[in-house]
Amino acid sequence: MAHTRCPGCPSGVKGPGKYLCFGCWNTLPTAARRLLNRRDSRAMARLRELYDQITTGVPLHEIEVSP
Ligand SMILES: [Zn+2]
Repeated sequence: MAHTRCPGCPSGVKGPGKYLCFGCWNTLPTAARRLLNRRDSRAMARLRELYDQITTGVPLHEIEVSP
């Protein structure tokens, strides 16, 4: 399955290896995007933080992730 539904919006579709669709990704604060692009041992924890905040209704432009 190459494309899956974007967790950040009702109609978006995200590509393989992407966390969100293009529109949602570009709505995230720059700091959050930079951290989420980092692929280290904390990458999965950051992804979980991102999805947790989306689930609890935090607006995309206010999402923060830990370094
Ligand atoms: Zn989206």
